[in-house]
Amino acid sequence: MPVRVRIAPSPTGDPHVGTAYMALFNMIFARHHGGKFILRIEDTDQTRSRPEYEQNIYEALKWCGIHWDEGPGIGGDYGPYRQSERTDIYRKYVAELLASGKAYKCFCTAEDLVEMREISKAQGGKQGYDRRCRNLSPQEIEEREAKGMPYVIRLKVPLTGECVYHDAIKGRITCPWADIDDQVLLKSDAFPTYHLANVVDDHLMGITHVIRGDEWMSSTPKHVLLYEHFGWEPPTFMHMPLLLGTDGKKLSKRRNPTSIFYYRDTGFLPEAFINFLTLMGYSMTGDREIYSLEEIVKEFDAKRIGVSGAVFDINKLEWLNQQYLINNIPEDKLWERIREWSFNDPFIKKLMPLVHTRIKTFSEFMELCDFFFIAHMKYTHELLEIKDGNEQMAAAILQTIIWRLDELEDWGSHGMHTASKDVAEAFSVNHKKTVMRLLFGSLMGKQQGPPLFDSVEILGKDRTRVRLLGAIEFLGGISNKNLSLLKKSWDEKNLAAFKEKLQK
Ligand code: GLU
Repeated sequence: MPVRVRIAPSPTGDPHVGTAYMALFNMIFARHHGGKFILRIEDTDQTRSRPEYEQNIYEALKWCGIHWDEGPGIGGDYGPYRQSERTDIYRKYVAELLASGKAYKCFCTAEDLVEMREISKAQGGKQGYDRRCRNLSPQEIEEREAKGMPYVIRLKVPLTGECVYHDAIKGRITCPWADIDDQVLLKSDAFPTYHLANVVDDHLMGITHVIRGDEWMSSTPKHVLLYEHFGWEPPTFMHMPLLLGTDGKKLSKRRNPTSIFYYRDTGFLPEAFINFLTLMGYSMTGDREIYSLEEIVKEFDAKRIGVSGAVFDINKLEWLNQQYLINNIPEDKLWERIREWSFNDPFIKKLMPLVHTRIKTFSEFMELCDFFFIAHMKYTHELLEIKDGNEQMAAAILQTIIWRLDELEDWGSHGMHTASKDVAEAFSVNHKKTVMRLLFGSLMGKQQGPPLFDSVEILGKDRTRVRLLGAIEFLGGISNKNLSLLKKSWDEKNLAAFKEKLQK
């Protein structure tokens, strides 16, 4: 059977390094076996999916040099490749499961579910849902439907025994069925959940190997059961090690630069970036660390994939990038690459309105705009000092701005203006003298510069986020305890108790 593999990202956020990591290994696997690599967009979460995030996935993968053989923009024999265009298909399959008694309608309300979860938690149980609709009589179901009660469709998970499957990387995996909820397959808006759509599509698209991150392992038993219920042959599962930060914790945008665009905008070379990603969880023969995509495609051996977490160390990436710069870019080509990166006309022209009336000589252009081109900010305590509070308070202000920008889903000039104003108000501090000054320091590494909000717009979301996090870290970080208190106070729109705590 020809190898067919896929990545199935959800367009619900910035293009994550984990997506490139998985795409890369799937592409290498497909090419090594002379198979096909498919891109499928899993956009069934109507509330979180956005067309711009989908475009960003394409753009980011292309920057990495990752190309798919079938999928959006290319087509193929198994389309459509966007799940929101396949909803009729899922409904048909879920109807089959209902008819054969392998799934059932559940009429519980959101409040019922909250209550069940609380009871279960108090009893130390792993289940969120108590299966109260699993054995409704046909008459009870009819009555509820006649009343127009909305329902979801749930999977009937065995009550005893265990799920056993073979993972081609991790070996034999077992999991007691009792630990698994009767998973929702179809939501009340008639959209499928990830589990249903993922299995149906993997089957219909002829996927032979599911190569995905470790974090999906808890979902696999549900998928194995679905394959069994449908009477389909499951694909071979291969769960790749999770990407970890140097702190040993899962890579997260709350702590690390996770957007692929951050690496592009900071001036890494895509060829070094993907070489680095292949080092995550894989080791070439002879412990070689620098090699081309063609070499790994040729030599690829799934047995060389590691089983435990892979550390994403930016210092290592920088080292590798330098090796590429030295060895792959001759001196007479260097300027061309730097120019393409950020000294290109469209980018530089964006800066002109910011500097036009602010420079006395051309050389002051660089003095004003250096922060658009540098990656390592040089913070000092004086630079990030605020008049009306200590460093912990400054860190809390920056953290709250991140939350507010995420809430607004706008990291541009308008979003930053609103966020900084809202946060100044919440902390009862001066917007200009305290919050904006702190932002100048954090984002530009200076107390004054070109207009702040326009600069944020050009700097872009990814670098802005990473700099805010960097400044928070420089200020000593925020302890977990303070972070949860801050979050709670922010959500309740009352920061008085938090501020009081910091003053003690
Ligand atoms: N939609 C999932 C994601 O966002 C797909 C996981 C899988 O590969 O099954 O990564």
